[in-house]
Amino acid sequence: MFLRAPWWTALIAACLLGAGCRSAAPPSLVLHDAHVYTLAWGDPDAEGRPAPDAPFDGERWTPDASAVVVAGDRIAFVGADAEALAMAGPGTRVVDLDGATIVPGLIESHGHLQEIGEKADEIRLDGALTEADLADRLRSATEPSDDGWVLGTGWDEGEWADALPDRAFLDALFPDRPVVLTGLRGFGTFGNARALEAAGLGPDTPDPVGGTLVRRPDGSLTGVLLNNATDLLNDAVPARSLESKARVLRYGMDQLLRAGYVATHHAGVRADYLPAYLALAGAGELPMRVEAMLAVGVPDAPDLTTWVRRGPTADREAMLQVRSVKAYYDGSLGSRGAKLLADYADRPGHRGVAGAEYGFDPEAVEAYMAAGFQAGIHAIGDAGNREVLDFYEGVFARHPGARALRHRVEHAQVVHPDDVARFGALGLVASMEPGHAVEDAPWAGDRLGPGRVRGAYAWRSLRRGGALLIFNSDFTGTDWSPFYGLYAAVTRQRKDGTPAGGWFPEEAVTAEEALRAYTVWPARASGVEDRTGTIQPGTWADLTVLSLDPLTAPPDALLEGAVRMTVVAGAVRFDATSE
Ligand SMILES: [Zn+2]
Repeated sequence: MFLRAPWWTALIAACLLGAGCRSAAPPSLVLHDAHVYTLAWGDPDAEGRPAPDAPFDGERWTPDASAVVVAGDRIAFVGADAEALAMAGPGTRVVDLDGATIVPGLIESHGHLQEIGEKADEIRLDGALTEADLADRLRSATEPSDDGWVLGTGWDEGEWADALPDRAFLDALFPDRPVVLTGLRGFGTFGNARALEAAGLGPDTPDPVGGTLVRRPDGSLTGVLLNNATDLLNDAVPARSLESKARVLRYGMDQLLRAGYVATHHAGVRADYLPAYLALAGAGELPMRVEAMLAVGVPDAPDLTTWVRRGPTADREAMLQVRSVKAYYDGSLGSRGAKLLADYADRPGHRGVAGAEYGFDPEAVEAYMAAGFQAGIHAIGDAGNREVLDFYEGVFARHPGARALRHRVEHAQVVHPDDVARFGALGLVASMEPGHAVEDAPWAGDRLGPGRVRGAYAWRSLRRGGALLIFNSDFTGTDWSPFYGLYAAVTRQRKDGTPAGGWFPEEAVTAEEALRAYTVWPARASGVEDRTGTIQPGTWADLTVLSLDPLTAPPDALLEGAVRMTVVAGAVRFDATSE
């Protein structure tokens, strides 16, 4: 009997022979005794029925492997425990997962990473519904001896829309310190007299296109700025240093890794944070994959000429990908900024604002698309969505090659039934937030009325229309836990279980579809489905280990889930297995 050479020597030999292999390293990690869903089977149909080759017997899912072996930054093996354990060498970490579930690394495909770290430094105003409540929170969170800016965040502009606050109480509370309180969803901000003064805003400042400086009857400013006007105030807050920005991003990535994400798509990076990303990437200090979608048509957007000349990141292996852009087409539904085809049900004569009027720069987006960048265009209202579809159609007619990139519609929140199938016809991605549907449910019907609301947050309809559906949270506006996303996606209920039976449950998706919308579908949206989104030998060693099985757990139990481990490019970036 002769000693068997370790399996990887064969791999090294194959690489030396020019087989193009990257994973010549010996196994670093063996995860076994697990429920593994590789997702390496076919897509469910448009009704959510699993593919014929799915590990599903008509009633129940069965994990299609129990062990995963990682070598270097790649998956070396996925299959049975015995074979996986036999591959372990002296330097291999072997983890018995005791029945936990391994899924392909989760992808948070639309968020605003800098907000996590920035808001960690700010006073939380979530759930505050009165000026007295705002005042109490600010008073208890500030020191009288401080004299710098008071920064708070989290008041819900949707909830406050009909009775906006007035800065008089803020001026009384902080006569000498500038105060800026950003809204939960980024479509409202609120400042006191000192902050308005620092921003150079006064009664004579005109409303920008698509934005409002809310005024008192005498014409003076209340301090509230809505939609496109928010940056006029927010940009007055003194900028951070490059080092501070890098710290903010690192903090945010750490939080996402804890939540189980291996990758995030930053939906609209401006010139302020782009250097921090480039610095972190250059130093090899990105602990997760980041797609930095360049902001277009907003103040402080990265320079178009520079980036069109540079082109999208060529190396798809790089942890930082600058290969896409993000533009806004209209505002939000809660603040009645989204553009509707007919009047708002709760504001006759008003249809919102969109397009060039809202700052959308079609020439810039088209120039990026022609240069090989993927576009992600924010569209909320049914008119906004229709016009974005028209825009894509026009660009594809002028640049047929651009079509292959699977361009995105961010939110695709209210889509007219006539437009649903255009997503499929144009090869578009519907980038949507399960949390938004259930959180907006209390007032979305007021804005839209009983008919149009049925075409809102319509995941099933969009799948039937051939859209590639990807899920995300648009953090920090909502809870970015993937368990909350999965739960909301399959139940159409809020965390408290309301409304009973779900909000328009016919638009819910299956657990498999929801899981795919966090893994293989965003991988496909980014054109890297051959490298990630499934667990197969040779794919990136990007894995998320969950305490429960999302395909078999009762929907209510999903909220109890916990992340056990997050592995990015073979490195264990979050580990609760020993806790
Ligand atoms: Zn966003």
